[in-house]
Amino acid sequence: LTDALAPAPVTATHCPYCSLQCGMGLRAASDAAGGLDVVPRDFPVNRGALCGKGSTAPALLARPLRLTEPLIRRPASGRLEPASWDEALALVVERLGAVRRDHGADAVGVFGGGGLTNEKAYALGKFARVVLGTSQIDYNGRFCMSSAAAAHQRAFGVDRGLPFPLADVSRTGCVILTGSNMAETMPPAVRHLRELRENGGTLIVVDPRRTKTAELADLHLAPRPGTDLALALGLLHLVVAQGHVDEEFVRERTAGWEAARAAAMAHWPELVERITGVPVPQLRAAVDLFCGATDGMVLTARGAEQHSTGTDTVGAWINFCLATGRAGRPLSGYGCLTGQGNGQGGREHGQKADQLPGYRKLADPAARAHVAGVWGVDPDSLPGPGRSAYELLDALGGEVKALLVMGSNPVVSAPRATHVEGRLRELDFLAVADVVLSETAALADVVLPVTQWAEETGTMTNLEGRVLLRRAAITPPDGVRSDLHVLNSLAEKLGCEVTAKKFPADPEEVFEELRLASAGGAADYSGITYARIEAEDGVFWPCPQEGHPGTPRLFLDRFATEDGRARFVEVSYREVDEETDAAYPLVLTTGRVLAQYQSGAQTRRVPGLNAAAPGAYVEMHPLVADRLGVGDGDPVTVTSRRGRATAPARVTGAIRSDTVFMPFHWAGEGRANNLTNPALDPVSKMPAFKACAVRVERAAPA
Ligand code: SF4
Repeated sequence: LTDALAPAPVTATHCPYCSLQCGMGLRAASDAAGGLDVVPRDFPVNRGALCGKGSTAPALLARPLRLTEPLIRRPASGRLEPASWDEALALVVERLGAVRRDHGADAVGVFGGGGLTNEKAYALGKFARVVLGTSQIDYNGRFCMSSAAAAHQRAFGVDRGLPFPLADVSRTGCVILTGSNMAETMPPAVRHLRELRENGGTLIVVDPRRTKTAELADLHLAPRPGTDLALALGLLHLVVAQGHVDEEFVRERTAGWEAARAAAMAHWPELVERITGVPVPQLRAAVDLFCGATDGMVLTARGAEQHSTGTDTVGAWINFCLATGRAGRPLSGYGCLTGQGNGQGGREHGQKADQLPGYRKLADPAARAHVAGVWGVDPDSLPGPGRSAYELLDALGGEVKALLVMGSNPVVSAPRATHVEGRLRELDFLAVADVVLSETAALADVVLPVTQWAEETGTMTNLEGRVLLRRAAITPPDGVRSDLHVLNSLAEKLGCEVTAKKFPADPEEVFEELRLASAGGAADYSGITYARIEAEDGVFWPCPQEGHPGTPRLFLDRFATEDGRARFVEVSYREVDEETDAAYPLVLTTGRVLAQYQSGAQTRRVPGLNAAAPGAYVEMHPLVADRLGVGDGDPVTVTSRRGRATAPARVTGAIRSDTVFMPFHWAGEGRANNLTNPALDPVSKMPAFKACAVRVERAAPA
């Protein structure tokens, strides 16, 4: 080949979307448009495969789709109009400074995102606490898997989504997958489920809908939404009753079994059938399959977690794993399938209301002293824990008067979205840093256009706790700056020179500081460097020294509690916050579709994805449709105690007849989160996205 014919070099990187963080290559496109082509790349979680979102990701870089200049809302027109960076940053500094001066530091809030790189999440948490001095910072990951994180911490002493590599799933004996429609949310991961069955293992899927994932299962349990806690307790009851408890494991490696066992024994199979709608023979079949295998895993996702009982539901599943000895051993354990691209890393480095980098607790004096030492500030100057995500959004326009949003679109993704949108409109000042003009950015006083994915380098931590390097493959357009650059500029203008120097715009410099801040914490990154990630294509945390190999499998010798034992937690069934009644007789559950991602701010702008999934719909059983007198495609209005949404009916026998389903990716009249219930789990503060009471009515044709 001559140089002219040689293929362009490939940049090895990862997908911009979900927590699988599929490996991919990017190469300069052969056409004249100057874009990028995606090429397959072997990486353990996806082995070259990508879903439609990943394969179309270069469309996100196109100019008409993304922002390329700052915008300011001009008083004369009331509209967002182009501005220079100097003008936009000066306005942010002036308005945040004024709110802080007039109402105190906690009147300024910060709302981050689970898609931000580790470096950005770290810098944002530090910026909030050191420069703004506010306790009011949280992020949209609170909506994602905080209940699983809380339960993980409570039982194992540390929270890592999967305590083993995803590929282990294909080699275990039985998997209970609960509340995950993996075939739509992360299709390349389905290969591991298929291989599990090819290797002789079995798959049990728990979901109120017969999803594409449920169709792969040996056994599908379809409980009423919001009753997952009863289901897990009923299965544990059967484990005890049928003599499947691993007494030696319970004795040697756990604590608290007696109280947990007594609580579970109150959940008789017949009672559990009445609560969940899952017949007793299916409960028995699930226990027989799981306990008949030599090893097994329980994997939860949002369907099990996004409830006001979410932490206890995950706790009950962990109890089930511990009682059967399926934890702390190779090819066994409990794991959570995180959702957002950096859902794992995003919560480790300090953008969460109650945490400091390294998974340290903000209320812990030793943790404050360590991190303050790295930041060069007085520990007493650091604010304490602030409001959780929904509580923060609910306080906007009240005690919180100004908000900086980075990488999040709560207008679509927050529960009770009409109310949240109203609170955002009540703010004295709203600044949003984003790649596109999301529905939240459209409400802002200042919009800062930032670099993304293939235009910048940074680390992400995927659902396995594997720290990865996303590499820049293309020069960003003129007019955009990185989030780190934005924080550097704001720190300089809002603070003193000392702080500005401590907010470098270079991601590797930030990562070097993050390593120090995380050292000795649960999520210890101190042995991980950019060079190592590059050489090894990812390193699992904890990795406490540079010579340390990283930790793909946790808990094999001991759990991360003080005495090394896992903790059973005594949990009993309680109803979700909102039950059905005569006025609201159906349960609404919400979720995701293959061609859209989270609030849809990016994917709705990609033509191929939008064509595949152009809008919301209301999935209902034929019995419900007959009662309403509606056919497939007829418009229906769904009403809850908080609001209404209108979308076409999709009639299918693949859903329970007491349940309707809406995907939540859209704004406008089909916004599913108009309906959802912001009732919070008492431990994790996770809102109850997955079950609320609604009525459905025929709507007038559009
Ligand atoms: Fe990207 Fe997730 Fe699709 Fe993989 S499964 S290509 S990470 S969106």
